[in-house]
Amino acid sequence: MVPTEGKRYAPFGRCIYCLATEYSHSRRTLGDEHIIPLGLNGTFVLPEAACETCERAINKYEGYLQGRVLAPLRYLMGLKTRKPKDRPEFIAMTANLIGGGETRVQVPAWFAPASLVMPIFGYPGLFSDAPPETSEAIVPQLMHQPIGLPEMMAIWSFGRNIDSVRPPSVSFTGNMFAQLMAKIAYGYAVAQLPKRISEFRHIADIVLGKETDVPMGYYVGSEPGRGPESTNLHEIHIESRESPTRQLTVVKIRLFAHLMSPTYYVVVSPRL
Ligand SMILES: [Zn+2]
Repeated sequence: MVPTEGKRYAPFGRCIYCLATEYSHSRRTLGDEHIIPLGLNGTFVLPEAACETCERAINKYEGYLQGRVLAPLRYLMGLKTRKPKDRPEFIAMTANLIGGGETRVQVPAWFAPASLVMPIFGYPGLFSDAPPETSEAIVPQLMHQPIGLPEMMAIWSFGRNIDSVRPPSVSFTGNMFAQLMAKIAYGYAVAQLPKRISEFRHIADIVLGKETDVPMGYYVGSEPGRGPESTNLHEIHIESRESPTRQLTVVKIRLFAHLMSPTYYVVVSPRL
């Protein structure tokens, strides 16, 4: 796969999700769509490609994953934010004391321990043409990636009575993460192959959280374990793949590839 080097595509001129031609009642120009979210330092931009209603629907999970689940990692890595003034200087964490017990501590955000938690899914059902009744539902298995050095620094700074410090725990569902993968894959497929957008439209239903004919797991999945080593922050690639009966178009995504994150797959075409 290739690193996501910055690219600004030609303006699309319609909301890629609902095909609206205006942003809202009060504003004409559609919003720019960051294919990988800006808050993850995404650098692929499809200009004039999202309306206000669709942005809001997407922000429900994209905003939560970026602002809550991935926040400590984003602060630690100094990733971008739309609201730099809102970025906290300190993160409240729980410190385990040597000899038992725990206490709350305020850890400077720039060296607070952070972990990368990502669900691991099965392969998309379409890879093997699994019939609907046997296709696996998306069941997340959590992968934990502790970031070592900053944790040590945090321990040092609070004295010897602290054994370890852990970030606040936030919960998320596999579906939220799968929707984010669908959103990234759909935007990338439309940006790369704009003439084929009608083939990809069913993925927009997943992105917007609409009721779909078949479980999301037919289209969205992952490798069963960690990915290979890499020096890239993110990787994305679109390719053809054969299933026993179909020619599939698949977007492969790795977020935080340098942390050996899993490879995610989204089958953007054909629909089942
Ligand atoms: Zn829209």
